[in-house]
Amino acid sequence: MSNTSSYNKYSSQCVPDNVSDQPVWCFVFNAGSLLVKVQNGIINVPVKLTLEELKAWEKTRFYLGRLNDCDCYCIETDENAAVDKAAVPEEMIFKKFRSLFGRIDEEIFMLAGKAAQILDWHKKSQYCGSCGSKTETKQDELAKVCLNCSNIIYPKISPAIIVAVINGDKILLAKGRNFKFYSLIAGFAEPGETLEDCVQREVFEEVGIRIRNIQYFGSQPWPFPDSLMIGFTAEYESGELLVDGNEIVSADWFTKESLPEVPNNSSIAGKIIDWFCDNS
Ligand SMILES: [Zn+2]
Repeated sequence: MSNTSSYNKYSSQCVPDNVSDQPVWCFVFNAGSLLVKVQNGIINVPVKLTLEELKAWEKTRFYLGRLNDCDCYCIETDENAAVDKAAVPEEMIFKKFRSLFGRIDEEIFMLAGKAAQILDWHKKSQYCGSCGSKTETKQDELAKVCLNCSNIIYPKISPAIIVAVINGDKILLAKGRNFKFYSLIAGFAEPGETLEDCVQREVFEEVGIRIRNIQYFGSQPWPFPDSLMIGFTAEYESGELLVDGNEIVSADWFTKESLPEVPNNSSIAGKIIDWFCDNS
């Protein structure tokens, strides 16, 4: 897959060298919406503002590091920020973060996803899960610490596999109960299993077949709220398709000429399906 990385233009850091009064890059969130600047129909994100301009709204702020040699922050605003139109800077608007997927630069989307995940983690880790005491944000790494019992809480990342099973010139696609499109088999890794075990288990549970030759394809963070999709390809080995009727409502083999509507190649599912079309 393409080597898109948010680290091409960006270097990660948790504490700024100094706090600037100059405009900085800001990923400004409000209840799942992201502040964007729209110019001639083009969506620009992050926005450049001074930290002073955000002071009236700001509830939470984390330093993310340097983006194109400029400091970069993520900020959660109070609930009034999105409705107080008079206070929103000129040409800026809050847009649902998820709706920006595939519509903005992929590297910037990944960095915005990091920002969203950090803010979500901050909100959900205010108290220690072990003893219930209030936690504090660590200064030297992206973590929270409980001063009472020393429990350390890192941002949560939930790994999930996604796999294309290939059978000759056909690819296996399945339709989930709550999904509009056919796509690849996917599911969350369970404690104690390797990613390869997870691929075998998910395919068998959802469509009842055995597979072999599992190969890593690539990965994609999916910040809704904290998944990391890990893509694989595999070959059909044995068994008849039998959908579980629960998570999956239908599944079938498709040639590249007979593909139904599938996710576009902004997603890792679309990228793997494109790879199949290019190689079959
Ligand atoms: Zn504790």
